[in-house]
Amino acid sequence: MEFIDLKKQYSALKDSIDSNIATVLRNGNFIGGSEINELSKQLATYCGTSYALTCANGTDALTLALRTIEVGEKDAVFVPTFTFFASAEAISLEKATPIFVDVDFRTFNIDPIKLEKAITDVQTKTDLNPKAILTVDLFGLPANYPEIKKIANRYGLLIIEDSAQGFGGSINGKKACSFGDIATTSFFPAKPLGCYGDGGAVFTDNEAYYQLLQSYAVHGKGSYKYDNVRIGYNSRLDSIQAAVLLPKLEAFRQHELKDRNRIAAAYTQKLAPHFVTPLIPDGFESSWAQYTLILDSTEQRTHIQERLKAKGIPTMVYYPNPMHKQTAYAGYHFNLEDLTVAETLSSRVMSIPMHPYLTDEEIELICHELIEAKRS
Ligand SMILES: *Cc1c(COP(=O)(O)O)cnc(C)c1O
Repeated sequence: MEFIDLKKQYSALKDSIDSNIATVLRNGNFIGGSEINELSKQLATYCGTSYALTCANGTDALTLALRTIEVGEKDAVFVPTFTFFASAEAISLEKATPIFVDVDFRTFNIDPIKLEKAITDVQTKTDLNPKAILTVDLFGLPANYPEIKKIANRYGLLIIEDSAQGFGGSINGKKACSFGDIATTSFFPAKPLGCYGDGGAVFTDNEAYYQLLQSYAVHGKGSYKYDNVRIGYNSRLDSIQAAVLLPKLEAFRQHELKDRNRIAAAYTQKLAPHFVTPLIPDGFESSWAQYTLILDSTEQRTHIQERLKAKGIPTMVYYPNPMHKQTAYAGYHFNLEDLTVAETLSSRVMSIPMHPYLTDEEIELICHELIEAKRS
């Protein structure tokens, strides 16, 4: 059994993916082909934003977003400590200071009460300028935007939405990638919408931001490529990756997102009597980048992982270390807050296989073995 079965997805979508790739090879437009325009249009339409710009990967998408809102030295950017390294790394790469904030135990996302406390602490205890909140839609669930937006307005902060894992999720029908002043996603193969290599995208409703994003992504171009008006990056999605993503987006829209939710519901129904299962607040929908259980202890987690491995069932720990415990951030002096929820989660979470092509038999087997492993 695979943790995320990309081969099954490929065999389901093979004809359209193969013929789309063949078209790119025939036309020879490997950078900026018509597939890129078509994909950008469809991404913006799906997410309900005015603009979408594709780029090289989800980390670059964050970098482009932070550069566009002019984050720099002396700026504080608030970020959940329970996330993938790139969320914090992009802030540091732009020379701003990441302020790590604790997360909610059941949704895994940034805790709005602790966020507000972190903002006032930065105002009163540091000489940093609070600039933006970099939210993360972890494991596919949108962060608590109704509360986060109130806080952002109260303190005059911008929101960058890191929806690398959140593509397809929603709150009351409004889609992930539409909540931030700028939002980003990743098409890394294992994400809810993945390509066959690296890829990413940036979303916004703000035309001025969109123009800056386009410029930063292509060497700070002005009116054309050889007119360079600012220092930028080289960050583009390949036409071949767009050709792969078009039929994948279609399948995602038609059935994969529904399948992910059906599988998650089956997991929850079978596992909730035995484990702490993910909490999806009312009105929220997850795209289930991961299905993550909270176990009683690290020892129990190790035991269950070993039992499942012996039965051929893969499991993963996302994430074994919160950002403030990473070596790269060792000795970092702006851990103002209590980050114990994230620390507890890191010691006790475990993710189980999740992709839209899991069969009923596989779901049954995974749940059965999980419950047995907990008992033994
Ligand atoms: C995967 C991921 C990224 C980075 O995306 P890449 O395409 O791998 O650069 C950023 N943030 C989060 C939360 C992620 O999961």
